[in-house]
Amino acid sequence: MKKRRFSPRAFLTALLICIGLAACYTVPQTGRKAFNVVSPETEIKLGLKSFEEIKHLEHISSNAVQIAAIKRVGEQIAAVANPDIPNAKWEFVLFESKEPNAFALPGGKVGVYTGILPITMNDGGLAAVIGHEVAHVAARHGAERISEQMAMAGLATGLAIGLSGEDSRTRNLALLGFGVATTVGAVLPHSRLQEREADRIGLTYMAKAGYDPKEAVAFWQRFMEYNRKQGGRPPAFLSTHPTDESRIASLQSLLPEAEVYYQTSGRR
Ligand SMILES: [Zn+2]
Repeated sequence: MKKRRFSPRAFLTALLICIGLAACYTVPQTGRKAFNVVSPETEIKLGLKSFEEIKHLEHISSNAVQIAAIKRVGEQIAAVANPDIPNAKWEFVLFESKEPNAFALPGGKVGVYTGILPITMNDGGLAAVIGHEVAHVAARHGAERISEQMAMAGLATGLAIGLSGEDSRTRNLALLGFGVATTVGAVLPHSRLQEREADRIGLTYMAKAGYDPKEAVAFWQRFMEYNRKQGGRPPAFLSTHPTDESRIASLQSLLPEAEVYYQTSGRR
């Protein structure tokens, strides 16, 4: 019989499993286990607060035709995503900006920047973008990021500061977590894992909402072309994301699954 002895590694593993179980969240659409210590209530509160701030800081577009387009497409995506995003009070706002960008926040708040419209080009392209952003919310990627940042900053301090609710540090943390930084007009990238997950869920959403999922591939191809013309420096929407080529390849591999949803969506 082997002599048992105390192993720091085993202890650390056990500790991490304990913390993990207490703070473990399963992404319902993919079954992935994620570390999350932010409650849905806190997440929605932070999302709503962030959206109000962004609306206050950014220039809201008054282009009626473009606003109608993002609402038309947004509402179709929302109808499909609604069961995954409880208590959403959907709102779609078009912001005037050269930046090709879009974001969605917990609570069903969606922002689209005018700079992305020449690349989305049509409702299908718009559905690909809004579907992707809404998928980040459905999978609670913002809360996961906030949790990771809190863990890095020290779990105990993070919980005390991060969840106390009202201070500016909480809001900054939320903006970072949700991938929105208004001061520089830049969007912080989600991790590759989260990006792939949002691509997959978003593709399902757009297909179920009656948009041809092939339009997502076409949109990312146009975006790749846009990036190339920008001189290889990807816009914030994409930086450190999977490379455009690998993203397009992975979307193409997901098309058959999405195609089934599209065929049965009844909106062809
Ligand atoms: Zn994304």
